[in-house]
Amino acid sequence: MTTPTDRVFAAPGSKRSVHIVPHTHWDREWYRSFQSFRLRLVDLLDRLIPQMEDDPAYARFLLDGQLAVVDDYLAVRPNAEEPLGRLVGSGRISIGPWYTLPDEFLVSGETLVRNLQRGLRVADRFGGAMAVGYLPDMFGHAAQMPQILAGFGFEHAVVWRGVPAAIDRSGFWWQAPDGSAVRAEYLPQGYGNGSALPDDAGAFVAALDGFARQWGDLLVGPLLWMNGTDHQMPQPWLGRVVGEANALQNDLDLRIVSLPEHLATVATEGLPTWRGELRAGARANLLMGVTSNRVDVRQAAARAERAVERLAEPLSALFLPADRWPAALLDEAWRDLILNSAHDSVCGCSIDEVSDAVLHRYAEASDIADGLADRALAHLAARVRHDGPLIVNPTSRPRSGLVRLTLAGADAPPGTQVLWAQPAEAVLLEGPPELVVPAAEELEWMRTITGFSLESAGGEALVSASRQGTGSLVSPDTRVALAALDEAGPVRLRVRRPAEVTVLAHVDEVAGFGWKGWTADGAAPSVEPVSVVEGAAGGGPTLANGLATVAVDPTTGTFAVDGHPGLGRLVDGGDCGDTYNWCPPARDTLVDEPESVDVAVLEGGPLRARIRVVARYRWPARAEGLEERTGEVEHEVVTQLELRAGERALRVETTIDNRSRDHRLRAHFPLPTPAATSRAETAFGTVERGLEAEGGPTEAPLPTYPALRFVQAGGLTLVHDGVAEYELVAAEDGRAHELALTLVRCTGMLSQVPMTTRPLPAGPLIRLEGPQLQKRVTRRYAVAVGEVDPFALADDVLVPLQVVEPSEASGDGDADLPAAGSALAVEGAIVSAVAREGGALTVRVFNPHDEPAEVRIDGRHGSLVDLRGRPVAPFEGSFALRPWGIATAVLSE
Ligand SMILES: [Zn+2]
Repeated sequence: MTTPTDRVFAAPGSKRSVHIVPHTHWDREWYRSFQSFRLRLVDLLDRLIPQMEDDPAYARFLLDGQLAVVDDYLAVRPNAEEPLGRLVGSGRISIGPWYTLPDEFLVSGETLVRNLQRGLRVADRFGGAMAVGYLPDMFGHAAQMPQILAGFGFEHAVVWRGVPAAIDRSGFWWQAPDGSAVRAEYLPQGYGNGSALPDDAGAFVAALDGFARQWGDLLVGPLLWMNGTDHQMPQPWLGRVVGEANALQNDLDLRIVSLPEHLATVATEGLPTWRGELRAGARANLLMGVTSNRVDVRQAAARAERAVERLAEPLSALFLPADRWPAALLDEAWRDLILNSAHDSVCGCSIDEVSDAVLHRYAEASDIADGLADRALAHLAARVRHDGPLIVNPTSRPRSGLVRLTLAGADAPPGTQVLWAQPAEAVLLEGPPELVVPAAEELEWMRTITGFSLESAGGEALVSASRQGTGSLVSPDTRVALAALDEAGPVRLRVRRPAEVTVLAHVDEVAGFGWKGWTADGAAPSVEPVSVVEGAAGGGPTLANGLATVAVDPTTGTFAVDGHPGLGRLVDGGDCGDTYNWCPPARDTLVDEPESVDVAVLEGGPLRARIRVVARYRWPARAEGLEERTGEVEHEVVTQLELRAGERALRVETTIDNRSRDHRLRAHFPLPTPAATSRAETAFGTVERGLEAEGGPTEAPLPTYPALRFVQAGGLTLVHDGVAEYELVAAEDGRAHELALTLVRCTGMLSQVPMTTRPLPAGPLIRLEGPQLQKRVTRRYAVAVGEVDPFALADDVLVPLQVVEPSEASGDGDADLPAAGSALAVEGAIVSAVAREGGALTVRVFNPHDEPAEVRIDGRHGSLVDLRGRPVAPFEGSFALRPWGIATAVLSE
């Protein structure tokens, strides 16, 4: 044991405070399934509750800042609600504020807000949540998190990963781009610095001493000893050993406290300030490779969030009566999204069973949301005085664009593009009667068939039948006539049904959150058509629509937009890393040229032109250890390029049937202008990033970054479906010449060691099959060159205009709405949510610019509220929104 004079606590005459916060960190599902970890959670709380009731010295416990663990426990031990409630009510157990501890980059901003709202709501049952933005294990922190926390009235955050070396104190002011700030308590050694708690007072004091020495001046205020770690059980000797340690020496004053009690005593003066996101690997791993590890999870997350946030909620809020708001079903969908947002769930750094569960929850949430959106659209269509298809704009901006319609009749209206035509009459089958007659009898059950006739090979009419309205087709007499054909030679079955055409049509200016009845006479588009020019000898085809020109290079399979060539070049490299971090083999084989390319025009306009590029590659089959890639697998990469009339962006869809392992496939885009920075969407705004990242002794500084829906650099904008990983590459003199977008990253280990990019493991060394993505993978994105509004482009590409066919209209009210209209007009900001809260229409917006904005909600008044729904100020028609601000408006109706 050290002597008192050896210790760094010094300050003669005064004692240094040590605050011990007993806790556990509960990854709900990770290297084991949810059910497996829950059995341990039940054990933990079965032990903890009586321990705390019987031992007042075990004074406090932090239940990991998330309410899901409380629900998970009480589902198994309903009788424990009362004793648990007593311990929470007396302040001895801290719960919440989150529902789960989310990843901050792989889910939408709205999911982060709903997660906190849900946590606070569940905690209300127990008298309230801990008012601390507890973010102990998240893989970096989003720039707007301080504003989100402040919006809930929190003054404190607690963070570990992502903090840069420039922060040299264990407390700092963390600012969001809008200027709102929280005091961040920085855990330099993580949330488990005090997980090992010796059952010996001398050893305990020595361990505290070691911690204080290691971090020295970085530690300000009372020493914070986080007594817990991943799934750690409480150590029942805690109260006793703390008492003994206090009796043993005079330099330290040890107390068992709650996190809020600790934060009430911390230093607030003389702290450094950090503005924006925290993504450094200076003192802890950031684990940035999770962004690209399972693109199937990333795509499912984006699809489900869009279905709930961008369709089900706004359409139900705006087009259903307030008393029909589907609160219970939306709550179920949100629960799935929020459970999945937990860092080890959405991050894909889990066993395959966990990723299967995550994908299932996303499928459930999407399914619920799709059904609710359809119901709301059907209800609207029944209210609109219009006979044909109804076009609905689910977004706030007025929109034009293409829709797909199925129209009665044989003729496509002028200006539309025919995709498919069903003639009124067609030969269905020809052959011997024993084949054809049973088929004719089955037509009874195909309700769209209005008649049929059977004729001989020579064209002689043998039997015919027709259906009146919803009546029968194959009458008893017809059956007799069909039976008599037994002896006939080959016959031909001809069917009749109503003719219809499926077309693409261009729709002009549908109002934000509005609708427009579609009519054939208005179908001629006001935009220039898209056309295809076949290439001259040796050249590829060109698409043009007056806004953009796209040319395909038939040698490389790449494309040019507006004369900027080489876009979409595929580069395949090895990855012997794991779900957390990319790691190239020591001697990598990069493949960046196809062996052959085929180009074919699939559609030639006038509204949509499509080209298919098939590029054949030979990629190594797998990595051997950490050294190199071996073997060879042939791959056909099918890329479909699509240009639409009236759009500047080229839509791209790349499909691979992935049979290589341990590799990373990226699409490279030469930048129109070399760039020193990129700008990508992040929760409630965008973030600008440079060419470098900050690493540390345990993680290489890889500037591979996440983007929610889009990234821009050097005059290029990419909108992508699902959070994507990008990197600015080919840098020269401080400027990058290319942007690389990761299409797939395939690895076979949950955590690997040793890796050149991360020497220590980040989790158990478990072999996995799921992250190898041995299946068909399709990535969809859009490319635009030049100035574009990326938020508008993201909506155009990812949240299309909706179509309600007349047969789908369904409602019990009157047709009281005109053929075109709008339910809500919001201008001047990006709309994040339109929903109902307690029956009231609620609109959340954010300002993604560094200039103040005037947000207009025409004809409406109400009150601005904080993220907890507490009134802030009234508004009438419009309100001012600070740069980068988030605002929530509750509308009076
Ligand atoms: Zn964790």
